[in-house]
Amino acid sequence: MTGQLKKLTANYDEPDLHRMEVYERLGGYGSARKAALDMTQEEVLDQLEASGLRGRGGAGFSMGKKASFIPEGTMEKYLCCNADESEPGAFKDRVLMQRNPHQLIEGCIIGAIAAQATRAFIFIRGEYETQAKMLDAAVTEAYEKGYLGSGIFGSQTDLELVVHRGQGAYICGEESALLDALEGKRGNPRLKPPFPANQGLYQGPTLINNVETLCNTPAIIEHGPEWFAAMGVDKSTGTKMVSVSGNVQRAGNFEVELGIPVREIIYGLAGGPPEGRDLKCFFPGGSSAPVLTKEHLDLPFTYEAMAEAGSMLGTASMIVVDDSQPIVPLALNLAGFYRHESCGKCVPCREGTNWTVHMLERIDQGDATPMDLEIMAEVQTNIIGNCLCVLGDSMAMPIGSMIKHFRGEFEQHIEAARAARDREHIRAFSAGELAAAGEAGPA
Ligand code: SF4
Repeated sequence: MTGQLKKLTANYDEPDLHRMEVYERLGGYGSARKAALDMTQEEVLDQLEASGLRGRGGAGFSMGKKASFIPEGTMEKYLCCNADESEPGAFKDRVLMQRNPHQLIEGCIIGAIAAQATRAFIFIRGEYETQAKMLDAAVTEAYEKGYLGSGIFGSQTDLELVVHRGQGAYICGEESALLDALEGKRGNPRLKPPFPANQGLYQGPTLINNVETLCNTPAIIEHGPEWFAAMGVDKSTGTKMVSVSGNVQRAGNFEVELGIPVREIIYGLAGGPPEGRDLKCFFPGGSSAPVLTKEHLDLPFTYEAMAEAGSMLGTASMIVVDDSQPIVPLALNLAGFYRHESCGKCVPCREGTNWTVHMLERIDQGDATPMDLEIMAEVQTNIIGNCLCVLGDSMAMPIGSMIKHFRGEFEQHIEAARAARDREHIRAFSAGELAAAGEAGPA
């Protein structure tokens, strides 16, 4: 497997693809029409499940199975599209929505039919103003054509769809916090169970899917689940959008077949680190994924291989770090982000992210000893699996992996920073600055 395999993005070079007229000319809305008029809800569900399509937003759970968890009954059911895309390193959904908003709307219709939902929401992060406007315009076009509203495509099925703008909090990408935010509350994660499939938006059964996941569904209904399952390897079927950023020569979004070697993504598609630089490590699935190193370059890019290597495919937002980047500032930057974004609801995350930042600052300022490194590693272990939502783990896992892979560099940083601090202390003592400040010199 080499290069890109453009299925989801096959028509992305078509001018004005965001307009209904162009999207329909290329076969758009044929799958939603087919699902609404010619298929039962069970048939739609079966096709999605048989395709092996897994959630593209991070967790990687089977989309069809997730939709099958929605209980039967006459209660109002909901579909929520998670377009919050707040993971550092992730920028694929932005392009999907901007280039082809109707593909997402068609995916929402198919997802809603699978879940028997009559109300759908696209929760989009506030910073994505251009994309939100384009979605609004596309939704208006879909209502005008009768593809949304009462009796879509002339069927007995109703579907209302609203584009809802978030306010840019990382935590609102967590599905239960997203639901709270959508209900007009502060976006805080909810205790689970109950899970959204049983009790989600406004207490009703709710299917929550990522943008890319839903965008894949029209092609599955059009070509059949076997067509989709024939791409990729094992339980990682289909293609995947990969956002590559960091120290590479050609950052950008690439659509690849799952199973492609990681080396092909970083070096083949993204051009590898700048001339004269070597790869130090990479986050395979966004900043919350534990880092991997050069020894993992020849692994296939699949959910399974990334997990077996101790990381995760996540959102497939690959952040590449070259050998010019010291590990301690990188860890500090990452921990600071998660401390800032923690909602503070549970202790391991609220205190753990704060402690981690302080310990990294001690290391960087020459106040730490090697024992602090042990304590910091232990703090990460105590956070993992003990939080209300995944945010705590999202900091602890990558920080833990950095300590594991770069312990020697952390130790050198501690020693070098301590030596620099002592030298500065002696210089200040000699210059009489300490005495003037009322401080004692070195013993
Ligand atoms: Fe909030 Fe962090 Fe706990 Fe999640 S893990 S609920 S973000 S404090």
